[in-house]
Amino acid sequence: MPELPEVETIVRELRPMVTGRTVVDVAVFRADALGSLGPDEFRAALCGKRILNVTRRGKFLIFELSPAGYLICHLRMTGKFAVTTAPARPERHHRVWFHLDDGSVMIFQDMRCFGTLAVVERLPDAPSLAKLGMDPLSRGFSLKWLAGALGRSKSPLKHWLMDQTKIAGLGNIYTAEILFRAGLSPLRPACQVGDEETAQLHRATREVLRRAIRKNGTTISDFRRVDEKTGEFQNFLRVYGKEREPCLSCHTPIAKIRQQQRSTFYCPSCQT
Ligand SMILES: [Zn+2]
Repeated sequence: MPELPEVETIVRELRPMVTGRTVVDVAVFRADALGSLGPDEFRAALCGKRILNVTRRGKFLIFELSPAGYLICHLRMTGKFAVTTAPARPERHHRVWFHLDDGSVMIFQDMRCFGTLAVVERLPDAPSLAKLGMDPLSRGFSLKWLAGALGRSKSPLKHWLMDQTKIAGLGNIYTAEILFRAGLSPLRPACQVGDEETAQLHRATREVLRRAIRKNGTTISDFRRVDEKTGEFQNFLRVYGKEREPCLSCHTPIAKIRQQQRSTFYCPSCQT
């Protein structure tokens, strides 16, 4: 599933392609993604709107519209975007075409159909965004904030970092990589992280995310950048998917355990 670096990569690629363009028509080929909004309402809410900017909050893409409104997208497992000249016909996984005023088409495609598209008048109207915690690349993600937030929770660090109501944007891959870099066990209760360790976790979170964005995200199976390009950060992972391989720091075999029905990868010797 795309996490913060993958969504940020898509935002940075889409922004110059669609900013300033007006949506002249919308074709919905499968309405699952639209939630309660019918295809006609969705089309009416977008036609004639100009795209002012493309931004991100957690794992959500946000298209700011003029004169008002927002298109909010969550890619879930396999959602992708392409911007192209109008194809003759929709391909199998094309869900929505957004026709733009320069003749191009922004295509939302989604093989598994878990991705969502919603239109709201104001951002506070979006229930999905209202529940989101701190974005780890925002100014608010300070050491002081992190120390305070960790101290109130007994959850294991892995669960805490992946809880979107605490920190928005982390999933299984980056949580593993951040905890390895911070030298912290995924099993450690959040409230038992010391001051120096909190500083390591804060630093590791920013470093891992920024590096992953510089490498355009991680493509292990499904993630594709705009127009089907792959990310490169999969070549720089230290623990995720490395079960039984020697730790790069201490040569102890990387362990794989289950937490909340998901795989956790970590070095039992470096991460305490
Ligand atoms: Zn190690």
